[in-house]
Amino acid sequence: MLDHIEIYVKDLEQTKRFWSWLLSELGYVLYQEWTEGFSYKYGVTYIVFVQTEQKYIDESYHRKHAGLNHLAFCVSSRQEVDRLTKLLKERHANILYEDRHPHAGGVAYYAAFFEDPNRIKVELVVRKQT
Ligand SMILES: [Zn+2]
Repeated sequence: MLDHIEIYVKDLEQTKRFWSWLLSELGYVLYQEWTEGFSYKYGVTYIVFVQTEQKYIDESYHRKHAGLNHLAFCVSSRQEVDRLTKLLKERHANILYEDRHPHAGGVAYYAAFFEDPNRIKVELVVRKQT
């Protein structure tokens, strides 16, 4: 089981504005907060964002380079994907694969793909019924 993910970011305030909103929408609750970072928790898993140190800030991140490609969160329904996509657009988030949305992951796959302020790809996908 995944315990936590920690991500270094270029602009902590911008990251906090975006991710506090998104993670709250997804049911996460604020877990830790300090000068250089914050985290949100859902169940036992938490996600941490930390301000990159100035001396490392020029190293650029790209999801197609080696390293993290994307984070995927499940939502309860197609309507929830649609609702959050609309809110993401209102927040001027960059929606990816918009021409194929919401089926960019395949015909039977209902998801939204977008970028966070750090250009990390994020996915919201309907949880498979079990
Ligand atoms: Zn995915």
